[in-house]
Amino acid sequence: MRTSFLWKCGSACLAGPLAGAVTLALPAKTGWVWLLAAFLLLLLASLLTIFLLSRRFSRRLDTLKRFCRRIGSGDFRPLAETDLRGELGDLGRSLNETAANLAATIGALTEEKNRSAAILRSMVEGVAVIDVGEHLAFCNQAFSEIVDMSPQVAQGRPILEVIRQPEIFELAQRALGGEEGLTGEMEVGVPRRRVFGVTVSPVSPAAAEAAGAGPGRPVGAVVVLHEITELRRLEQVRQDFVANVSHELKTPLTSIQGFAETLLAGALEDPSNGRRFVEIIRNHALRLSRLTDDLLKLSRIEAGKLEPEFHAVSLPELIAAAMEAVRPRAEQSRLSLHFACPEHLPRVRGDANLLREVLRNLLDNAIQYTPAGGRIDLSVGTEDGFAVVTVADTGIGIPEAEQARIFERFYRVDAARSRELGSTGLGLSIVKHIVEAHGGRVGVESAVGRGSKFFFTVPLAG
Ligand code: ADP
Repeated sequence: MRTSFLWKCGSACLAGPLAGAVTLALPAKTGWVWLLAAFLLLLLASLLTIFLLSRRFSRRLDTLKRFCRRIGSGDFRPLAETDLRGELGDLGRSLNETAANLAATIGALTEEKNRSAAILRSMVEGVAVIDVGEHLAFCNQAFSEIVDMSPQVAQGRPILEVIRQPEIFELAQRALGGEEGLTGEMEVGVPRRRVFGVTVSPVSPAAAEAAGAGPGRPVGAVVVLHEITELRRLEQVRQDFVANVSHELKTPLTSIQGFAETLLAGALEDPSNGRRFVEIIRNHALRLSRLTDDLLKLSRIEAGKLEPEFHAVSLPELIAAAMEAVRPRAEQSRLSLHFACPEHLPRVRGDANLLREVLRNLLDNAIQYTPAGGRIDLSVGTEDGFAVVTVADTGIGIPEAEQARIFERFYRVDAARSRELGSTGLGLSIVKHIVEAHGGRVGVESAVGRGSKFFFTVPLAG
């Protein structure tokens, strides 16, 4: 109403142009102001909406960014349900899925890696990987111990600097050149010498092979070290054994042959010499038979064919019987024999025949290596569930350095003298085998010129 009044008034006053303009302009301006205000209000509302929307959007984007960063640092926990609303919800959901897949894949890979690491760590074989630039890319604990180097320092360094064994270096170079199936041998360790078999294989580039292009130039070499010390030792023992047996047989056989030929050449007609020569032949034949007996016993024992028949055995009875059996020889050598035993000694779990053999060997040695006028003391006692038997003599004794070796086959402290005495050098190794087959142990304490004290243990019965 007011507008139309002004409008009308404006029309009436058109005659006065200035005044008319004023009266006409006022109502029009008011309209524009309203219009402008409405527009500004609208603009403000839109800006506010845009601002609020973009703030929410950038917050979501920030959340996603933070989530991506978390995934990058290995934290695969999914986004919360509240973060999955709105326009970026789909993206969040697929990121959640990706994170879950990554977590599963990384978990599987980690498990696989841990398993391989555990296998390599627990392997007694030394394993190392050498890259194409001849640097040590990886090695397990066993490898670093065998070649005596620190794995932390060595990894990534040129093998020429860290591995002192030329055998490994040469084989690795050939493997990197493409040669396959390389093997060798090396020795390490002072003073305990250890022998290792070395196997080196080239690592073919997987990509070339996968493409069916056949093995390309190696990208590295894998070195495996396996210990063969025991194998080499056994080979040596076997060679020594054959050499020893041949030697032991040769001496009596040569003598027998020599004396038999002398007899045939005419000594038979000479009664005094003839008899002496035949006695020598008989002694050598006896020695041969002792040797073959001992060898047979030993080979039966070592082939695992020794099957002791365990019973509850009275050791004092066995010892007394063994002493009686050697008494004539002891008296002949003017040696006194003594035996000390507690009153109620429990029985032992043993094979009477085999234990007799042990006692016979130890008593024979004591008589053999004790000069006339000496004494031999036997005793038996108990200790930690075992009976302990000792055979002590006042004989020539055994040098300390030899004490550990006298239980080896054919080992004799004074080989020439022992051979003269008719010994085979097998007695103590038979003793050791028998005692160990009973679950006991054997040992010696000795001082040169003062005597020796051998002992062995046998488990008490029940
Ligand atoms: P052998 O048949 O030569 O006696 P053994 O295996 O019984 O063979 O003994 C090995 C070596 O140990 C002997 O050659 C000897 O040198 C030494 N030995 C064994 N027993 C005694 C002992 N009681 N006193 C001194 N030396 C001994």
